[in-house]
Amino acid sequence: MSELPRIDEVHVYAIPLRSRFRGITVREGVLVRGPRGWGEFCPFAEYEDREAAHWLDTTIEQVTIGWPEPVRERIPVNCTVPAVPPDRAHSLVAGSGCRTAKVKIADHPASLPEDLARVEAVRSALGPGGAIRVDANAVWDVDTAVRHIREINRAAGGLEYVEQPCRTIEELAAVRRRVDVPIAADESIRRAEDPLRVAVAGAADIAVLKCTPLGGVRRALAVAAAAGLPCVISSALETSIGLAAQLALAGALPELDHACGLGTVNLFEGDIVAESLRPVDGYLPVPRTAPAADPDLLEKYRHPDPERTEWWIARMRRLLELRRTQS
Ligand SMILES: [Mg+2]
Repeated sequence: MSELPRIDEVHVYAIPLRSRFRGITVREGVLVRGPRGWGEFCPFAEYEDREAAHWLDTTIEQVTIGWPEPVRERIPVNCTVPAVPPDRAHSLVAGSGCRTAKVKIADHPASLPEDLARVEAVRSALGPGGAIRVDANAVWDVDTAVRHIREINRAAGGLEYVEQPCRTIEELAAVRRRVDVPIAADESIRRAEDPLRVAVAGAADIAVLKCTPLGGVRRALAVAAAAGLPCVISSALETSIGLAAQLALAGALPELDHACGLGTVNLFEGDIVAESLRPVDGYLPVPRTAPAADPDLLEKYRHPDPERTEWWIARMRRLLELRRTQS
């Protein structure tokens, strides 16, 4: 049995989101400080211990050994266009400084005309040189996906890729055989073995990876290598402290051909560090270590509910103990 990792400080936070995301309006989690600096532990509340344990592995890597050397200094990121009217979509993209836009589509069953108008507006804001990717969040059946992707691709003047058009790996593979637009797998990739399953099934051209559920930057790099697919790194809705690990992963990938979904600190009402990792002109820097928590911001966003605070601490303690007995 190994020792418990050294953790010097633990803070439970609650930060309101600017709009509802994944059904939540307040992001909660734990910030810890160890020998290598700050880390974040923020598995979503409904995740069971087995899944949440990987998130803790990511935290422990960050605060005890740090990350591998990056091979690039900065990461291109996409701007995100929610299911908004065309004029709003246009202004979001034009004001972002990004050359890639990720557009939410298939928001409701009769959304196609709105989706077409939205991607047309995004194309006019980006110009012909920009890249447009769309995300359907797994709502279509195969026939609907094929029909809609063709129309949206035409309206967009060419799509970079479509993210998770259908739910299952088999459906993704079926859609991929029938359309020319590249397919990216997102929801189909949650565990370390998933990218390989997606690749073997011929279900996607691109893998969307997040290091947090995969157990750290090193594990995610190994998963990416095993899958052999081009990767897009995406956040798990962390503060700048957890986001730093996702950037370290994007920075250490041998190849990075696509913008990443890491400009997500803007979704929070506030952050826990004084200098947030917000994109400038469409890029984020690759940090060597996580930024440090700011004492005033730790105080400002300290979780107001003692019971909830205790729940987070108990969850982390339980998983630390599990980690110790299993290693
Ligand atoms: Mg997605």
